[in-house]
Amino acid sequence: MRIVAKGLTYTYNPKSPFASQALKGVDIVIEEGEFFGIIGHTGSGKSTFVQHLNALIRLTGGSLTVGDYDLADKKCKFLELRSKVGMVFQYPEYQLFAETVEKDVMFGLKNFHKEMKEEEMRTAVREALERVDLNYEEVKDKSPFELSGGQRRRVAIAGVIVTRPEILILDEPAAGLDPLGKKEIMQLLHAIHGSWCKTVIIVSHDMDEISENCTRAAVFSEGKVVMEDTPAAIFCRSDELVSLGLDIPVTAKCARLLKERGIEVQTDFTCDDFIGRVLALWKERGKADAQ
Ligand code: ADP
Ligand code: MG
Repeated sequence: MRIVAKGLTYTYNPKSPFASQALKGVDIVIEEGEFFGIIGHTGSGKSTFVQHLNALIRLTGGSLTVGDYDLADKKCKFLELRSKVGMVFQYPEYQLFAETVEKDVMFGLKNFHKEMKEEEMRTAVREALERVDLNYEEVKDKSPFELSGGQRRRVAIAGVIVTRPEILILDEPAAGLDPLGKKEIMQLLHAIHGSWCKTVIIVSHDMDEISENCTRAAVFSEGKVVMEDTPAAIFCRSDELVSLGLDIPVTAKCARLLKERGIEVQTDFTCDDFIGRVLALWKERGKADAQ
């Protein structure tokens, strides 16, 4: 399912003294199959935008289509859309509430598939928990509170992917995890992207996460998209990002420092590529010095 937004606007508490215009004309296209990143300062409209994609926030201005679903159409099948566009909120583990892991994951399914038999549901729950690398037999009867933070986050993700959404959106999926936990969550999202959900969209303020993982990304600023491109092209414009108050990947920082010393590194800003290019330059110089 391809996502196309044109001139999307949204105001919280309209017609009140507390009115706040969160989206001021967002144009964006996200192709099916992408691992898409959304970056931007706090308050730039990222969460408001992604909540439009499964109609948690109803469209009030502009146009938005997700596959064949036209969200401006009052007759749009919103429940069906929600089962196909899964949304994992920030710190989703705090929203687990059922007595057992199995019941929690099943809750998501019951909402959308009232006709499903208990046995079918159990199979779906088992598959979703296994997909997030949890041992079904070990965790199914546990209270979510008996699990570690990282495991709870996996349960929350299982509760969303259990409907087999085509598009999976995660708001800051790695926030608050230690470096190993972050790496594991990103590996998990790639595995889900390859096998389970066609499109993955992450909101992140971690630029290394974006440069290492995303096919393309959009930069939000003050309710608009100011850049939409591959991470390689976006991080070439590091001066602009810095002037927007945004961070840049560590590779882009190193490239800037090298440039100040007269060494230009052409890189896509992934660590692997950056190191490879620096080594190649170093070898070339070694040869030149030897001659
Ligand atoms: P981001 O996710 O990029 O931090 P948000 O979409 O959460 O940005 O917020 C965009 C703007 O909308 C901000 O100015 C924020 O204060 C405002 N906003 C967000 N949620 C609400 C809300 N529930 N009520 C009122 N204003 C809100
Ligand atoms: Mg947000």
